[in-house]
Amino acid sequence: MPFDIIIVGAGLSGLVLAERFSSVLQKRVLVLEKRDHIGGNCFDYRDGNGILVHKYGPHLFHTSNQAVWEYLSKFTKWHQYEHKVLSSVDDKLVPLPFNLNTLYDLYDLREAEEIEGLLLNKYGYGARVSILQLRRESQPLLKELAEFIFNKFFVNYTTKQWGCRVEDISDEVIERVPVVLSRDDRYFDDIYQGIPTNGYTAMFKALASSPLITVKYGVDALTRLRLQGNKVLFDGRKFPGLIFFTGQIDSLFDYSDGELEYRSLQFVFEEHNKPSFQPVATVNYPNDYDFTRITEFKNILPAATSRTTIVKEFPQDYDRFDDMKNIPYYPVFTHKNKELFELYNRKLSNISNIVPVGRLAQYRYFDMDDAVANALLTFDQFRSA
Ligand code: UDP
Repeated sequence: MPFDIIIVGAGLSGLVLAERFSSVLQKRVLVLEKRDHIGGNCFDYRDGNGILVHKYGPHLFHTSNQAVWEYLSKFTKWHQYEHKVLSSVDDKLVPLPFNLNTLYDLYDLREAEEIEGLLLNKYGYGARVSILQLRRESQPLLKELAEFIFNKFFVNYTTKQWGCRVEDISDEVIERVPVVLSRDDRYFDDIYQGIPTNGYTAMFKALASSPLITVKYGVDALTRLRLQGNKVLFDGRKFPGLIFFTGQIDSLFDYSDGELEYRSLQFVFEEHNKPSFQPVATVNYPNDYDFTRITEFKNILPAATSRTTIVKEFPQDYDRFDDMKNIPYYPVFTHKNKELFELYNRKLSNISNIVPVGRLAQYRYFDMDDAVANALLTFDQFRSA
């Protein structure tokens, strides 16, 4: 069957676009997916213990964007879940983001009360303060607190996660985890939080269920696309419709101006013959081990089994030639990479029939809700194109 739209990649961005073009405009959509499964890095499956595990690391859905929540809710029901993280610091497991509970866990009562008073006086109860802002404090006790938090919770984790010094990582990355001036132990404070009741994969299948959508697996779209002048050819011919590309933008140009850097991860799964491994879904280990964190999946979506499955995350450099390291999870925000991305992006904007969408093509640290919002916006921009 002929197609009106081609989408490269069956992840969140690609499938939201496929769903919109097929259901709103009755377009015939071809989705080309390199892997043998749907859902990109959100893919999950039930393991031998019947536990729903996230193959590419824990994905926790949270948003304050009502439109995004309502949109996805058409394709899944939600298991009410608010993510909790503990951090292993000074041989204790304490709540992260650092909040007033963490303060009282790590300081003696008198000192904690004094610091709490200073913090609330300055910022007010419930404030979410950036650790980088707190470090600029001149009040001696607050300054000392900021250095304590920065050194114990951020410095070593960030070095492990990004493979560089904490100073070399963009502020916006570190500021994703604030210092919270309340007793709220939740990792996110968004209005809507949950896990698809039957998993992300089921939600993706629902997104792609229209007969107007064809998903082809095991297809490397780069072998089918070719740049020629200000057009992209598909299978050597001019494709009359739009092509939405969710892959790595540098790969589309065969890395002609250099490679963008990404950070990769190795996930090591372990099954344990006991009902529970740790008290919350995720425990971070900033200062010990080569892995950054351990996630226990039963604590995200309950499962009726006396066994449990965990995953450890080992950060690593991305290497497109190494099968163990060739999944790009995070863009690396350095000045050099931002400039290189802008160069590729300018080149792409001169090509009339291809649109970059999503974390890899737009080189952005999108959370899942950002990816959905961005894909919905892209649909609105191009629906009449
Ligand atoms: N971070 C940290 N210590 C932690 C958790 C996070 O230093 O215990 C820093 C680190 O630089 C990390 C960033 O905050 O890359 C963002 O953390 P987040 O949990 O949002 O990362 P993600 O879940 O996207 O990997």
